[in-house]
Amino acid sequence: MRVNKNFWKNRLYNDNTRKRALYIYLPILLVLLANVAVEMFVTPKSNFLNPSQSFKDNIPVVYSPHYNISFRGLENLHPFDSKKYGRIYTELKQQKPDAVPRFITAAKPDAALLGLAHTAEYLETLQYARTIARITELGFLRVLPDKLANNLVLEPMKYQAGGSLQAALAALEHGWAVNLGGGFHHASSGNGEGFCPLADIGMIIKYLRREGKIKKAMIIDLDAHQGNGHETDFTGDEDVYILDIYNSEIYPHDTKAKRGIDQAVELRAFSGDKLYFGLLDQALPQAFTAFQPDIVIYIAGTDILDGDPLGALAISADGILKRDEMVFRQAFDHDVPVVMLLGGGYQKSNAHIIAQSILNLDRKFGLFSSAGKH
Ligand SMILES: [Zn+2]
Repeated sequence: MRVNKNFWKNRLYNDNTRKRALYIYLPILLVLLANVAVEMFVTPKSNFLNPSQSFKDNIPVVYSPHYNISFRGLENLHPFDSKKYGRIYTELKQQKPDAVPRFITAAKPDAALLGLAHTAEYLETLQYARTIARITELGFLRVLPDKLANNLVLEPMKYQAGGSLQAALAALEHGWAVNLGGGFHHASSGNGEGFCPLADIGMIIKYLRREGKIKKAMIIDLDAHQGNGHETDFTGDEDVYILDIYNSEIYPHDTKAKRGIDQAVELRAFSGDKLYFGLLDQALPQAFTAFQPDIVIYIAGTDILDGDPLGALAISADGILKRDEMVFRQAFDHDVPVVMLLGGGYQKSNAHIIAQSILNLDRKFGLFSSAGKH
């Protein structure tokens, strides 16, 4: 034991940089290169979603193990808990072992669906590692081959965006649905930013309208950040109503996109429950009085949670459950299908709170047992 310790001590802490490189950096580099080599030859399976599929027999909670982003620990360099989706699923599976097998398995949108949500120019730039690095703020992606950056980060996002569309379609059948991912509210048709490469909200609205499944959509964006992506896409669109309640002191400060908001509630940092729920209690009924949608797209960002380093709104865990319940109750009271997308939320505790909130919705509205016939 003692011998081993000294062996490493001598090699890690002496001033011989050549030796240090040999014992520390070289193994790390070799492991990384081996991973790169393996991933380079992996071509993801083309598991595309079929928008005409019926989800009548499912419980409309959408998930795929593909949602989770991991790269041998390197993902820990980013504050985003990139495996929260799997953690939510695991907790729901423990709590509701009979329900989970009936959940919907997410699939990817094909080129035509992506083309509906985005401009060809934007999709062209998305192939490059440097674009993906910029959008996700994962600097190390910049040095990776394009294909590897795609496999590692863009593929999970594609599954999540596909899951959002599937959840919206399921919500039209069941009256409600939850995607255990998605809610990329900073992405618009021609731009991605803020960890949002794909405009899943835009894709939902554009697809459902094109197919004649809806005419009018309401976006209730309760993520801590301003939803500048969908606001940019639907500015001036009278058939899309946007309620956005956000911390005005943090990213993105997008004044141009604000023109797309129908009802904006701007909060200061660390607002807390009392102020937040006072405003939400007024804002939700006001939205449904002003506008009668065919679907509600609810971005349930949990970065409003107390302690979130980015959201900074200081809302309690109980407050998250209460908020989600208030949105579902409003939608159900007005007989409008509601699809919940996860949005942001950057602490390790978020997955547990989201799972608890979904279980609370099930308890309050009997969602799983009636599969939506509330
Ligand atoms: Zn956010």
